[in-house]
Amino acid sequence: MKIDILGCSGGIGPGLHTTAFRVDKHLLVDAGSGVGTLTLEQMLDIRSVIITHAHIDHILGLPLMLATIYDQHTHPVHVYASSSVISALKDHIFNWTIWPDFTQLPAERPILQLHTVDPDSELEIENYRITTLPADHPSPAVGYLVNDGQSSFAFTGDSGYHPPFWHQVNRHQPELIIVDISFTDDARELANDSGHMTSSQLQQALALLDYTPDVRITHLKAGFEQAISAECSSTDPIHVAPLHHGEILNLPKG
Ligand SMILES: [Zn+2]
Ligand SMILES: [Zn+2]
Repeated sequence: MKIDILGCSGGIGPGLHTTAFRVDKHLLVDAGSGVGTLTLEQMLDIRSVIITHAHIDHILGLPLMLATIYDQHTHPVHVYASSSVISALKDHIFNWTIWPDFTQLPAERPILQLHTVDPDSELEIENYRITTLPADHPSPAVGYLVNDGQSSFAFTGDSGYHPPFWHQVNRHQPELIIVDISFTDDARELANDSGHMTSSQLQQALALLDYTPDVRITHLKAGFEQAISAECSSTDPIHVAPLHHGEILNLPKG
């Protein structure tokens, strides 16, 4: 499995894009502004998108990508998310005011198909088994576990410190965990209010694990990347490092 890090920042700016990971050729995990780094051909190859939550930094690439490819696509794009996220997309994005309703366009073969995913469910998408994982965030949110039969990774989505996520991860033991660490420790109050984690909460979470995965941190607040990374670096024996834009992760690790 190849994970292409299209966007991994908590903000935007030169070289910074918000959350979007491409898994192999056909699957997107979240559709933030990182989607805008895909070529037209790569966008046309996307068949499925799983969305963690409806915050705009995780969805804004979706309407723009669909508008870019809707007259050239040869297959629909299937979007999977919780019922509240699907409702939010219908009511607030694809409502003919903010953006056209691509579940009706083009009329003869609409490009967008929306699918509701139940919490705590498992589904087969493309060649992957996808499991929803619990998250804690002001907007209804989930994390995901993506397994291609050979390897797997877990993604918190946006979430504060939430032990049920880490207990589930322990059960599945993915070799890679991608964790939202948006703030340094001295911004803990802001992190709690906004439903994100800090570096010391990462230490707490990693202490819940009874195995040694690779851990990569994402959603770092723009301008604080070095400070957050420095606080997260000392978690021996678990290796923790920030994700980088344009990086490609290969699983299983060679
Ligand atoms: Zn969010
Ligand atoms: Zn976010």
